[in-house]
Amino acid sequence: MKEKLEALREKALKELEGLDSLQKLRDFQVRYLGRKGELKTLLKSMGKLPSEERPLVGQLANRIKDFIEEAIADRERVLRAREEERRLEAERIDVTLPGRGPELGGVHPLTRVLREMEEVFISMGFQVAQGPEIETDYYNFEALNIPPNHPARDMQDTFYIEGGLLLRTHTSPVQIRVMERFRPPIRIIAPGKVYRRDADVSHTPMFHQVEGLLVDEVTTFADLKGVLEEFALRLFGPRTRVRFRPSYFPFTEPSAEMDIGCVMCEGEGCRVCKGSGWLEILGCGMVDPAVYSFVDYDPEAYRGFAFGLGVERIAMLKYRIDDIRLFFENDLRFLRQFL
Ligand SMILES: [Zn+2]
Repeated sequence: MKEKLEALREKALKELEGLDSLQKLRDFQVRYLGRKGELKTLLKSMGKLPSEERPLVGQLANRIKDFIEEAIADRERVLRAREEERRLEAERIDVTLPGRGPELGGVHPLTRVLREMEEVFISMGFQVAQGPEIETDYYNFEALNIPPNHPARDMQDTFYIEGGLLLRTHTSPVQIRVMERFRPPIRIIAPGKVYRRDADVSHTPMFHQVEGLLVDEVTTFADLKGVLEEFALRLFGPRTRVRFRPSYFPFTEPSAEMDIGCVMCEGEGCRVCKGSGWLEILGCGMVDPAVYSFVDYDPEAYRGFAFGLGVERIAMLKYRIDDIRLFFENDLRFLRQFL
């Protein structure tokens, strides 16, 4: 019996040396000292011993148990120290590495073009005005001489909100709001978001417009042409060609659309200008006297002109972008090109 106990001790000690993880150490402890462990199993056969030998063997068994427990504790210390070392090594920080600075953002291409436009008009004496994006039928349509049966009110185009409200379909209501509050001379541009139920490569449900309005005692169509031609030359370069075509808008009379020579083919004719060599960039006209009646202006005393243009369209032409949706996808590969 004594020999068996000594052999157990030797075997345990040897096995302990080879244990390389805390988990294996736990298993080892259970295997040797547990309730069904090797030591207990060995001691069960003690009953067969002569009674005078039992106390001695019992003492020896206890000593061996203590011994193994101590050896386990020693081994645990070693393994824990080793583990800590590994952890520290893995988490080591190289303090000599350069820091990671925050990435610098840029101005969105639409903001950039909008600022450029504002600068041009401000330099010509215009002021920036603003109005609400949620409008009433009165400001968005009626006061702009668009009666209830007019096609511009088509349900397909307008987002209607409960309570007779709607999302403005153009920045033109700002004209009315400004004229209600101020008397001529008026010279404003009104940049902002507008909304229409439309979505494809050249339409998004939300886009940006810049509205312009000039009202004074003596204003002619020549003034309109002068201001808008100057705008086109400043934005697209001094070689830009400009032409005006007759058009129709309910709140201007006469009305026109302004084209610039195609920026892609310079007039040769291409896919973008559909072979015409010209690109339409804005609508304009002399303010219809009917509109003055809504804001209490004397149509005999004042004359003015108004214009409206799409910021996305201008940006697409200026930067040769063929899909309007790129502006709103926030793809960094696209946006970084404008830094
Ligand atoms: Zn072209």
